[in-house]
Amino acid sequence: MMSPRVLFLLLPLTLAAADNAPQPRVVTPGARGAAPSDAVAVFNGKEMTGWLNKAGQPAGCTVHAGVMTCTSGVGDIHTAEKFQSAQIHLEFNIPHMPEQKGQLRGNSGVYLHGKYELQILDSFENPTYAHGSLGGLYGQAPPLVNAARKPGEWQSYDITFTAPECDALGKVVKKAVVTAYVNGILVHRGVEINASEKLGGGCEAGPLLLQDHSGFPGAPVTSMQFRRIWWRPL
Ligand code: MG
Repeated sequence: MMSPRVLFLLLPLTLAAADNAPQPRVVTPGARGAAPSDAVAVFNGKEMTGWLNKAGQPAGCTVHAGVMTCTSGVGDIHTAEKFQSAQIHLEFNIPHMPEQKGQLRGNSGVYLHGKYELQILDSFENPTYAHGSLGGLYGQAPPLVNAARKPGEWQSYDITFTAPECDALGKVVKKAVVTAYVNGILVHRGVEINASEKLGGGCEAGPLLLQDHSGFPGAPVTSMQFRRIWWRPL
């Protein structure tokens, strides 16, 4: 066993090594609610520049006072720009639809690389299957907790997405990993994502996609609102 004297001699060396680490880069936090200094604004709050529908045409959502409103029928919309790994922030406001239940209440979703859905659903006193509730990694993992606010209130997603890694032949050798917070509360902690056959494998960059749930059986007309969407490529 090492004597206290030896430990005492080693301690400064250990500290010296740690002291050599480069200084963390300075990033200025945004004013309360605003994006930090090095974030890329994915939605500019003025018009739908940079957002496309499935056909590659300009997205049909309306914009007013910094808020994007997407009503059933506009279809899924996605960013023209693609990302690999990124920190992502977005805020959403789910309409109050008390006449509906489960998946038919206000339902959208944010798809990472256009493939992996983090569920947006009114989950305030609205039970459904766990992986399909707000914060769920749809079809893969339920959220750690239900962090839903009431419908009609602004809510937030903060996501860290680590892109998958492929070998020279394009086969995934390291799965994508997600950490996510809903309303600042941890809902996924380093969860590995399975890329199903249907989603396709591969490691190419992908867009951020927002779901129009109206294509699903019985889905009612829904107006979903979004604001303050930004990312920081990692
Ligand atoms: Mg959804």
